[in-house]
Amino acid sequence: MNKILYPCDICNNEEFILFKEKKGFFGDVTSIVTCSNCSLTFLNPRVNKTIETLYEHRKFKPLQGKNKNSRLNLFAFGMSLLKSHVTKGTILDVAMNDGTFLNTLSSSDWNRYGIEDSKLAYEYCSDKFDFKSFHTNVHECNFPNNFFDVISLWDVLNRSPLPSRNITSMNRLLKEDGYFLVSFEAPTRVLFRGVNHYFTPFTFNKLLTREGYKSVEFYYIEDTGDEIYHKQKVNLNENNLKESKIGHYIAIFQKIKN
Ligand SMILES: [Zn+2]
Repeated sequence: MNKILYPCDICNNEEFILFKEKKGFFGDVTSIVTCSNCSLTFLNPRVNKTIETLYEHRKFKPLQGKNKNSRLNLFAFGMSLLKSHVTKGTILDVAMNDGTFLNTLSSSDWNRYGIEDSKLAYEYCSDKFDFKSFHTNVHECNFPNNFFDVISLWDVLNRSPLPSRNITSMNRLLKEDGYFLVSFEAPTRVLFRGVNHYFTPFTFNKLLTREGYKSVEFYYIEDTGDEIYHKQKVNLNENNLKESKIGHYIAIFQKIKN
């Protein structure tokens, strides 16, 4: 059994049940384990590579074709959910990749900021787009406290080795009653893509609730690349890892005022 890199990120438990073994993103054999207490499922050991290393491995390339269409559909669906809560303000896209998401937002409604760990991706965005882009991450960025109305994280938290740490850093940046717009993939889509956490709606909600957020929207969608053909409101007690090659969860969480 490999050494556990960290205790469970939700409940700090250190006892796990083997879920399955798999070949990791970097060719290593690793296991996926489930926390015996809260049922969070994650890689053991977790991949602790920076996004820069991931891009060096796979080369940064702007999205195109069906991949780009699929992201555009996901972004549009996310924004349609957000619309009933907030329609304009200051937004931060974390790990903005090639900037496609921020570029879809109207600059008259949204004051747009993007951060990216990858220098190549950051340079691409700052050359191409007029939104504000920064080569940094949520821990090191120096935006003022309570600055953003919305922080978006497209398939970011499930890749992080310690999502709770990311959320803690973002807490400072988000206004009281601000929103997280988040997505993560259904598990089998991502077995070989450096994902650390295999969230279910139940475990994802548990993580965010513990950090002081409440779920206001939570959906499961499937798309063909060209269109979303299945949308389903999610039950937050749903705790089976939904095996799907094409499924995405998308959710909005609001910060609870303290
Ligand atoms: Zn746990």
